[in-house]
Amino acid sequence: MGRSLYTKLILIIMTLIVAFMAVVGAFLLHGVRNFYLSEFYQQMQSVFSSEELAEDLHHAADADNGVSAIADILNAYKGPLGIDAGTRNYYILDGMTGGYITGSNDPAEEITNTANILTAMTGQSGYASDASADFMDVAIPLEGTSGRYIIYIIDNKSTVQSLNGDLSHIILQAMAVGLLISVLMSLLLAKTLVTPIQDLTHAAERVADGDFDHKLENSAQDEIGVLTNTFNDMAGTLEATLDDLKKSEQMRREFVANVSHELRTPITSVKSYSETLLEDPDMPPEMRRRFLSVILNESDRMSKIVQDLLTLSRFDAGSIEFEFTRFSFEKSVRDVYSAMRIEAQKHKHEFTLEFLTPVPEIRGDRGRIEQVLINMVSNAIKYTRDGGKVKITAGAKDGKVWCSVRDNGIGIPKQDVDRVFDRFYRVDKARSRESGGTGLGLSIANEIVSRHNGNIQLESKAGRGTVITVTLPVEGPADV
Ligand code: ADP
Repeated sequence: MGRSLYTKLILIIMTLIVAFMAVVGAFLLHGVRNFYLSEFYQQMQSVFSSEELAEDLHHAADADNGVSAIADILNAYKGPLGIDAGTRNYYILDGMTGGYITGSNDPAEEITNTANILTAMTGQSGYASDASADFMDVAIPLEGTSGRYIIYIIDNKSTVQSLNGDLSHIILQAMAVGLLISVLMSLLLAKTLVTPIQDLTHAAERVADGDFDHKLENSAQDEIGVLTNTFNDMAGTLEATLDDLKKSEQMRREFVANVSHELRTPITSVKSYSETLLEDPDMPPEMRRRFLSVILNESDRMSKIVQDLLTLSRFDAGSIEFEFTRFSFEKSVRDVYSAMRIEAQKHKHEFTLEFLTPVPEIRGDRGRIEQVLINMVSNAIKYTRDGGKVKITAGAKDGKVWCSVRDNGIGIPKQDVDRVFDRFYRVDKARSRESGGTGLGLSIANEIVSRHNGNIQLESKAGRGTVITVTLPVEGPADV
């Protein structure tokens, strides 16, 4: 592609140079020819319009030796007439027949009766010019007592022709130099035009092969520079999109694997316990009850996982309806505190609640906000060793309300803190499972809070404890 563009450039520039030179040359040659032609006739007219010369010629024609007297006068006027006996000559012709009598040289061949000679024969001066003829001539009739004559001046144009020959030579030389320059210019153009295009092509090929590591260097501000920048931007966007796609594909795979794994464990339990129950009809009632309660627990667990998954998939699809109303955030916090008190007591936690400022009403989905608060408190209770401390604080600031749940429990290792909002992510799977967790609680909480334009943050130190804080705008999200 580069080569053909390069060839085209050379051809276009060469054609331009040749065409330009040809046009200039034609004008020049034509101009020179016309200049000589009009110069000749002007010169002749100015000489022959002189009354002095006319008088002299008439006297000569009246003299006995008319022809030689006329020739003498013409010889005297050789300078002004430009007679050089080579290119330009004068001849004295017979006024009736146009036949040659004498002249500045002997004509090599017979003088033909040109249009001007024929005019002169009729007694008129012949000054007609013919640019296409290979000669220029004037014929002046002269009548005296010695006879009728025609003074005939003819120029064979050899001066013009040799000048034009020289000019053509120069034009051809200029053309050759022009062609050489055009090749050099094409090389230069190829460097500034074709090279970046080739670079772009290579870069596009690399991108097509999935290699995004090479950015194109660009220092030019011209159209190719803009194209290069646009290409780099496009490659960047493409790379980011591909990365996103890979990430979401990876997440999807992990999610499916997690769901299958999470459901397999309870299904296996239910299956093996029910098989045992079926195989042993004589099982003691106490054992039977224990087995049945395991089956019930595992079924509850499965149903909770399925319920949570359904909630999340509805969030993803955007098909969950929120009921935004104005309600007392303070009352919700108090209700959650009361509801969770028994659970906290079961684990012998010191469970407290404190409002740092008055808390206004907010606009939001009360049920779902309480679901978030319950999840935060129940995590604090679950992930704190019995007899620990769980403290709820709440307040309001800058048009927002907030609620923190602080515990002095097992905490979360640094590397896991950012991942606890991921679906199914649990620091200690066994512990979570034991306490009925699914690893989906914080993901759901995160979705709910972001639908309220709020945010949820978690700080933790392994072995020391955790603080999780939710912040919500008093006015709720702007779009609902
Ligand atoms: P789960 O159902 O397992 O509790 P969550 O989504 O609510 O799922 O929480 C995800 C994980 O984050 C938990 O499994 C636990 O490892 C960690 N976590 C959440 N809250 C706390 C906390 N207060 N203290 C320690 N770990 C916590």
